[in-house]
Amino acid sequence: MTTSHWLRQHQFTTHDITTDILIVGGGYVGLSTAYWITELNPELKITVIDRSFCGAGASGRNAGFLTMGSASFYKGLTLEWGVDKAKQVFHFAAESLELVHQHILKSSPEIKFDRTSSMTLFKSEQNHLKWQNNLFDPNEFNFKWKETSGLPTSLQNKFFGGYEALPEYKINPIPLLASLKKRLENRKVQIIENSSVFQLTPDGATTEVNSVKAKKVVLALNGYFPQFHSSFSGAIVPRRAQMLAIEIEEEFDCPSLYYDPAERVYWRKTQDKVLVVGGKRLLDEAGETGDFEKISPIVQKGLEEYARQELGLNFKVINRWSGTMGFTEHELPFIGRLEAPLEAYMIGGFSGHGMGLGFRSGKEMAEVTLGMKSESFYDQFKKPQFKL
Ligand SMILES: Cc1cc2nc3c(=O)[nH]c(=O)nc-3n(C[C@H](O)[C@H](O)[C@H](O)COP(=O)(O)OP(=O)(O)OC[C@H]3O[C@@H](n4cnc5c(N)ncnc54)[C@H](O)[C@@H]3O)c2cc1C
Repeated sequence: MTTSHWLRQHQFTTHDITTDILIVGGGYVGLSTAYWITELNPELKITVIDRSFCGAGASGRNAGFLTMGSASFYKGLTLEWGVDKAKQVFHFAAESLELVHQHILKSSPEIKFDRTSSMTLFKSEQNHLKWQNNLFDPNEFNFKWKETSGLPTSLQNKFFGGYEALPEYKINPIPLLASLKKRLENRKVQIIENSSVFQLTPDGATTEVNSVKAKKVVLALNGYFPQFHSSFSGAIVPRRAQMLAIEIEEEFDCPSLYYDPAERVYWRKTQDKVLVVGGKRLLDEAGETGDFEKISPIVQKGLEEYARQELGLNFKVINRWSGTMGFTEHELPFIGRLEAPLEAYMIGGFSGHGMGLGFRSGKEMAEVTLGMKSESFYDQFKKPQFKL
């Protein structure tokens, strides 16, 4: 980003801000980081700035699956990093879900969540054999195989069986973000929306209308990292994901979160007759790269066909939308220090899995930022090496 000569000369009435730690980006990850910093050191003055509003990015646009694992299949993780590290990644995610349950969900009656399971479904025995070893080690985690007779009645004639993982959470992400935001405000965290940070300086950062004096800065920018600074280009790739909401005509019993790995589709119910379906981005992989929201007719058609043909549903489309994810090559996030004009950190690159991993990752970022840890959990995979 840039600012014009005229804007720079103009004396805005907006006051400059002084804070201990500035967090740039008010999505689930930035807010979780602020939550944990205030939890670990309530004395610090924390400011969160979002260029739009908290939840304007992927955090307010996702499917609301709070699930274990990572963006990569378990098998892929074991081949790349070995079994121990693959297990650590899964345990990290499970801990994230447990923490968000204990700290936020349990004590927020306004968040209507389901403590439920996810089911990874297979159409046929061959399909199962092809995928089962890719997904997880059933002996290690709480995954249970369910034959077709153990599936909800609506799915029995459609799927051969599936693996169930639990406990996981089905949520509406907006009340979750609102609850986090309210907790932060109660802790006197300053949250500034509609203000874009575009540059780090030796004593903080600048927005278009003021400067923020901060001792430390944390960037939580998801797919917008390369937009903020070219140093992130190529290492964090913005990819679009499409979602479709349909109102279904018949009863369709599906209480959990569902994933069909062969078709790369996931779905869940929101209200009684509303189903949210996502995935199929590989139908338009080249078109779905970019950091702005738009509908992909190809992907949306693929999602509709899946709901009609594979799930056998009759429906009316009630909404279509998209969101931006930040992908890394190794599909695991970067959490660590940056080379910058001041003490600065980054947390991002969740590769489409940030709702599952975000809360625990915010804790990791807080501990690193506060000097309680010299390395983050994710440094063992790849350390962030970015110079701003
Ligand atoms: C359609 C879709 C479905 C998904 N489904 C799931 C799911 O079911 N489960 C799951 O685990 N994950 C899911 N994800 C991924 C998940 O939503 C993200 O990983 C997660 O929300 C990332 O959170 P974040 O806070 O890092 O990013 P964001 O929510 O994108 O927040 C980044 C924030 O930075 C702000 N910003 C950007 N530039 C600036 C700037 N210069 N100055 C100030 N602010 C700035 C933006 O306004 C934005 O609010 C999905 C993603 C999409 C798009």
